[in-house]
Amino acid sequence: MRRTKIVATIGPATSSSEQLKDLILAGVDVVRLNLSHGDIAEHLARVEQVREVSAAIGRPVGVLADLPGPKIRSGPFPAGSHTFDVGATVILTAEPGPSTASRVTVDYASLCEDTFNEDRIVLGDGAITLRVTSVESSGTTGRHITAVVESGGVTQGRPGVHLRGDRMRLESPTPADLVMAEQMAAVGVEFIAVSFVRGSEDLRRVAAVVGNRAHLVAKIETASALDDIEAIIEASDAVMVARGDLGIDCPLEDVPHLQKQIIRRCVEAGVPVITATQMLESMITAPSPTRAEVSDVANAVFDGTDAVMLSGETAIGHDPAGVVRTMSQIAARAEREASYRQWAERLGRIQRSQWGPDSDRITAALAHAASRAAADVDAAAILCCTRSGRTARAMARFRPGSMLLGITPDVATMRSLTLTWGVEPMSMPECASTDEMVWFAVEAAVQSGRVHSGDTVVVLAGAPDRVGTAAADVMRIVGVA
Ligand code: PEP
Repeated sequence: MRRTKIVATIGPATSSSEQLKDLILAGVDVVRLNLSHGDIAEHLARVEQVREVSAAIGRPVGVLADLPGPKIRSGPFPAGSHTFDVGATVILTAEPGPSTASRVTVDYASLCEDTFNEDRIVLGDGAITLRVTSVESSGTTGRHITAVVESGGVTQGRPGVHLRGDRMRLESPTPADLVMAEQMAAVGVEFIAVSFVRGSEDLRRVAAVVGNRAHLVAKIETASALDDIEAIIEASDAVMVARGDLGIDCPLEDVPHLQKQIIRRCVEAGVPVITATQMLESMITAPSPTRAEVSDVANAVFDGTDAVMLSGETAIGHDPAGVVRTMSQIAARAEREASYRQWAERLGRIQRSQWGPDSDRITAALAHAASRAAADVDAAAILCCTRSGRTARAMARFRPGSMLLGITPDVATMRSLTLTWGVEPMSMPECASTDEMVWFAVEAAVQSGRVHSGDTVVVLAGAPDRVGTAAADVMRIVGVA
């Protein structure tokens, strides 16, 4: 039983329903659509396709739509790979058109105003670094920058272009992001990721469009987001440690420490957190991961992450389902060594001083008690009856050793629990009373084969008519007949 969730980005390598089915069956919990690539009609069709495949295999799968944000990109490189050799000269221009390894077009009008001699410009997720040697304000080729390749590499498609102090004139979310957020919320995706968040206000602008139709994921990938991290975590439903861009905006050697700090704060706050980018990167082409990648996935599990994410590995890789199986095995193995029990004890100690509103306090206190009770009675499972998912998320914070079921009458809630550590989402009918809810939850757990006669289970429930206020406020310990 793996508790850490897997988010997989889909793309050309996973475009057919058969490929998608293989990918999901290999162990994907949430499918990510990277809206930076392709057009919106394509993405809307993919949402439909994920729904169909998920229904066909009878397993809830969440959909995460990742907004492009104000990412500066190059003009397209012609099909195939393009090599930047160390020492080569490269011209960069804000003029439109395709790129080559000697002339890169950049979709940022103020390129020449915001760049100075000796600045570093990074292409892609950090592999290729250019050093600016001159900024020409005019000339036969128009306004352009001349740079020399400091660290070389290979790129393709439309790589991101990271300038020093970039995005100073760019806003997140962009007007295009807000349009896409509306389109994605309208088709009912569970998660919308906001790129290049710099402060909690950026999230509120997307929330104003999306309302409660989708959960907002704050991508932490700028230095300014780190300055406002507490408010960002509070304003978001989930967080992504977007290590690709974070490692460009911050010193690379800071990234592992930032990852640990962000994950720790998110778990304390009960906000699901995803660790993203280059986790099994070499498997885009290789049949097995590097030892360093295996350690990276395991370390994210030790850090307490809710989910680990695959990008190019499943979008353009040669064996998307194989990568998911590899990640799943590494995560499951690491969980056996992870110090979740100490984690729960520490959370129990700090929780009283940090809880927010009364309703959160009740749910948190109940979840804390349930995590101890489940250990005391060696419970086969903790059954969280939940309408909004809040009780199941509050319970997951304590990283209980027992199986954790999030049982809900709401299909959107069921899918949203796909991102939360350890929660197996299940459906149950609407109930008229707390007693009925407990009965149906145990029955659903037994019917699914997860719980058996003779097991002891801990059930968390609330009054069914108390929508929108306190979630669960009742704990029962049930011996299954
Ligand atoms: C990242 O930068 O790590 C990331 C996940 O964002 P994107 O893939 O959109 O660049």
